[in-house]
Amino acid sequence: MSEATSTIFERIISRDIPADVVFENDRIIAFRDIAPQAPLHLLVVPKTAEYANVAELAAGDPALLAEVVATAEQLASEHSNGEYRLVFNSGESAGQTVFHVHAHVLSGSLNESPLA
Ligand code: 5GP
Repeated sequence: MSEATSTIFERIISRDIPADVVFENDRIIAFRDIAPQAPLHLLVVPKTAEYANVAELAAGDPALLAEVVATAEQLASEHSNGEYRLVFNSGESAGQTVFHVHAHVLSGSLNESPLA
């Protein structure tokens, strides 16, 4: 992906900018959201910049989407009570600000969450 269209997540993946990383393998990275909306708020991010949103990922690499979901499940168990909300914002009017597919994992008390 060209420099002009690269996102903040690519800079986190390349360690250009710091993040509180809680999980990483060759295909996925997960880190704490900088502006948490729940007691636990993680972002699970495929390392490839090929997919802007979850529908593109589902069509292009369903196994990687399944891996994102399995990672969310595992991290919610490790860092919270294993119950969680999984949110993929798709499109600007739906709240998407970073156009590199990512799952929000929200766990804990969610009543006040604007993502609810
Ligand atoms: P979106 O709005 O695209 O669904 O989610 C993007 C998320 O990335 C937001 O919840 C926002 O707080 C988070 N975010 C944006 N910039 C950074 C950053 O530099 N570091 C971290 N850890 N999270 C970020």
